[in-house]
Parts: sequence; C-alpha cells; structure tokens
Amino acid sequence: MSNAIRIDGKAKAAELSEQITAETAALKEQHGLQPGLAVVIIGEDPASQVYVRNKGKRAEGCGFYSVQHSLDADVAQDAVLELIDELNNDDRIHGILVQLPLPDHLDEQTITQSISPAKDVDGFHFINIGKLTSGNVADAFVPCTPAGCMLMIEDHLGADLSGLKAVVIGRSNIVGKPMGALLLKANATVTTCHSRTPDLPGVVRDADIVVAAVGRPNMVTGEWIKPGAVVIDVGINRVEVEVDGETRSKLTGDVDYDSACEVAKAVTPVPGGVGPMTITMLMFNTLRAARLSAGLES
Ligand code: NAD
Repeated sequence: MSNAIRIDGKAKAAELSEQITAETAALKEQHGLQPGLAVVIIGEDPASQVYVRNKGKRAEGCGFYSVQHSLDADVAQDAVLELIDELNNDDRIHGILVQLPLPDHLDEQTITQSISPAKDVDGFHFINIGKLTSGNVADAFVPCTPAGCMLMIEDHLGADLSGLKAVVIGRSNIVGKPMGALLLKANATVTTCHSRTPDLPGVVRDADIVVAAVGRPNMVTGEWIKPGAVVIDVGINRVEVEVDGETRSKLTGDVDYDSACEVAKAVTPVPGGVGPMTITMLMFNTLRAARLSAGLES
C-alpha cells in the first residue's frame, strides 16, 4: 500500500502565483512600477509555441506588462542580437527570455549571453551561473525549474538539508547542474549522476533526496528508492498508451510514480508536479528583477 505524499505542484504554484499577483498590484500602487516580461520565440516548434503562449498568459494573469516577439526560423543571428539589445535598453522590460531550443544556424551561447544579467530571468547568463555556483544564491537569478524543485524539497525537509544525501540524475545546464548547486548550498551531500554513471540504481538507493532530470520514461522505479526518500520528478516524456483498444498519447515522468510511492515519503506526479512550479518561478524572477531595477531589493 502506498503511503507517500503526492507533492501537489499545481496547488503550490497557484498559491505562489497569488502572492506574486498581490505583490505586483502593490508595486504598481506604491511605486508606479509594472514588471515587464519579453519572450522571444524563433521558428514554429509546436511545443515551444505552447510554452511561450502559457508564459505570456501567466505574465498577464500576474498583472505584468507582457510582450512576445515571434521571429522567423531563418532569422539572422544579428537581427536576434539587435532585438535583445533593444530589450536590454527598454525600461518597461525587466525580464527577457529566449525560448529554447533555437534553430541550428543560431548560436545558443552567444544569444543567451547577450541578455543583460539583470534581466536574465531564466538564470542562464554566466554571471548568474557564477553567483549560484559560488554560493551567492540570494544575489543570483536561479534557473526556474531547479528553483521550483528546491521549494518543494524545503516544504518536506526544511531549508537546511544538513546530514541528508541528495542524488541528482542528469547534468544539464538548465536543470541538473543548478539543482546540484542549490542542494549543496542547502548543506546536502550531493552526487550528480549522468549517462556514464556506473550502478545508477545503487547510487540512487543511498539518497534521501532524488531529483530525476533525464528524459527517460519511468526509468527510476521503487526498487531504486530508499525508504522515506523525497523524490522530485522533472522529466516530461510523451508516451503512447492503449486505452480501450485505442492508442493515446500521455505525459509521464522519469520516475515510475506508483512503485516509487510504495517506498518514498513524498513524490511529485507528472503532470502536476514540477511543471507548474517552473512557470511560476519565471514570474517570481521577473517580479524580483523589477524590484531590483528600482532599488527595492538588495
Ligand atoms: P538533457 O537532455 O539536457 O539532459 C539529460 C541528462 O540526463 C544528461 O545529463 C544525461 O547525461 C542524463 N542521462 C541520459 N540518459 C541517462 C541514463 N540512462 N542514466 C542516467 N543519466 C542519463 O535534459 P534536460 O533539459 O535536463 O531535461 C531533462 C528532462 O526534464 C526532460 O524530460 C525534459 O523534458 C524535462 N524538463 C522538465 C522541465 C519542467 O518544467 N518540468 C523543465 C526542463 C526540463
């Protein structure tokens, strides 16, 4: 029988969104300042279109000024850099996000590094990565997905993770590496695993906290989980399932939710776990960028 807590990311994100909306209203009233988010999308990737539309809607819902720049898939890199330069110098805009992945002819690093670190609400600029990895977390824009994961971990284990072992599966710059840095800052003993890690199940079995960010459906099963562990499933995988003789597509995580729930203390579901928190942390970062721009936060 499963005793694990289902970590409700949707409910937590809704609660946080309400706070952000209230703080935005207060910022407008008291300081005449409206947070502004600019989202740049290049090309027609259907998943990216959905993500970007949701980000814009959510920004408006929070009371932000929200703009979307849609560029053709064959846009020249100089034109992208010119647009980012304009946004860097636009006082109405406090957060800039370029939706990834980019078309092959564009250089992701050149583009992400051209965003002003003060408007880098995705936390991909080297200045923000440097602040995060050197432990100056309070001063950095932290990438949204690991920032959201961390809030859910804190809810179940507290802010100080001293004495706890954490295993992060995946070493991407967007999730795995910043996740490891945040856990380390919170005093966990952190192991980062990846596709070349030997005996992954054995390593995971030792962990009080497991964060899976791989992109392999149901890879982490209950047999890998230490009893009482907190399990955060970042993976988003589309799989085909048979329902009443029909093939349907559904989203699933990197963790086999049911078997993990047999052993763990708490597990995030997919969907409804990490996903909703990610977009909310983008709003959190944008509000913070606006407050910082006006000297209202240090
Ligand atoms: P990525 O492809 O950049 O990185 C995947 C990582 O998994 C790599 O470091 C790789 O070494 C590791 N890996 C691959 N196969 C492995 C294996 N067999 N054993 C151990 N490690 C293995 O992906 P990413 O951008 O970090 O995203 C990971 C997953 O999280 C994807 O499913 C993605 O869709 C999802 N994601 C979700 C959110 C969200 O908001 N919920 C945000 C970002 C990414």
